Amino acid sequence: MLRLDGSELPRDVTWYSCGPTVYDAAHLGHARTYVTFDTLRTVMERYFGLRVTHAMNLTDIDDKIISRSHESGESPAALAERCAADFFEDMASLGCKHPDKVLRVTELMDVIIAYIQRIHDRGYTYSTTDGLYFDLRRFVQDGHSYGKFRPIDAVPDAGFALWKLAKGSEPRWQSPWGAGRPGWHIECTALASHAFGDSIDVHAGGQDLCFPHHENELAQAIAAGVDAPWVKHWVHAGHLSIAGHKMSKSLKNFISVKEALREFTPRQLRLAFALHPWQQPMSWGTRMTEARARERTIVSFLDKALSVPALDPGPDLAAEERLAAALVKAKANVRECLQDGLDVSSALEHVFVLIREGNARTTSAANGSSALAATASYVVSVLWAMGLDFRCLGVDKVFYNGVRDEALRLRDLGVDVKTLFRLCDEARHRA
Ligand SMILES: [Zn+2]
Repeated sequence: MLRLDGSELPRDVTWYSCGPTVYDAAHLGHARTYVTFDTLRTVMERYFGLRVTHAMNLTDIDDKIISRSHESGESPAALAERCAADFFEDMASLGCKHPDKVLRVTELMDVIIAYIQRIHDRGYTYSTTDGLYFDLRRFVQDGHSYGKFRPIDAVPDAGFALWKLAKGSEPRWQSPWGAGRPGWHIECTALASHAFGDSIDVHAGGQDLCFPHHENELAQAIAAGVDAPWVKHWVHAGHLSIAGHKMSKSLKNFISVKEALREFTPRQLRLAFALHPWQQPMSWGTRMTEARARERTIVSFLDKALSVPALDPGPDLAAEERLAAALVKAKANVRECLQDGLDVSSALEHVFVLIREGNARTTSAANGSSALAATASYVVSVLWAMGLDFRCLGVDKVFYNGVRDEALRLRDLGVDVKTLFRLCDEARHRA
């Protein structure tokens, strides 16, 4: 069974992810975060057979959206709508499953206002001329813990906004505290609880959301009176940096998902992220060169292994038994890595150890190898369980061989099939 932070996950998993603020194109930092979540969810579902329900919020009203809409002349609603559609298109291009529930802030204003009311009724708010704030000082003085994600050494002297009063022509919704819009932190506490009630199995976000966002989300849930741990497991995906810097427009190192997909396939990007420990910071660049090389290693192994007959073990029984034993060992190692904390990158290394053993067997297995067929089949299935799809290779191979055999037959009949052979060669090199 799968354990996170030492405790077992149930068969039906509720998973909430902090979604994007939609005011610009999705960049590679988003790609790493959401591909990581998709990979972990895929392992839960395909490897452990868990049923995951994934909810994600969409921040479709916020300061950044308002200021970008002032610059562009587009209305905040139109800007958010366009960027949201673009975000989900990019995520689909990366092979990420669409969330089971997408929770848009502007569509669930009542839910958010009701949650603020819950906190307000318990006395953890104060008002200013700007709006309604969370009373962090009182929260800490009442003995509630604050500082799970980053220890604090003093009682905070300021709170954070729960409800911001609208200024000028800013978009606004009516509330008991005046017309305005919600603060950012309250969205997630209210919407995650709306989706799953007062206890959630997994709450995910990028590493930069630990503090203060997740700290404040948690404080709000406690202030609203949630008894049990509000979130059982926090999942934080590591940062992606470029040459040591966080990706940002101002540093001119912003690579959009669309730009990256012109240079790399979705599978290469997914592999690059999967090869790196998902909680750790990752630097863009070196991993991509490595991912391409690793992909070639997988493809070339499967290519060789799938061209060997599967049934006749051939004369080299010792080599056959060596590979069969390596396969048993790899399966156990992969399970051990995944079942305790979803260590996908270490599990992948065991798959590559197995591929090396498999490659050694291909040199002596011209007559056939049952262990090699089993190894290739395991490699394809375990990579698929990690969200890395190499399944089409076998089908391509059958198709390719069929076309090549037909071309050979036609050539023997005197037909000019040079073009067909050239296309076959191209297809072979692409694979
Ligand atoms: Zn959030």
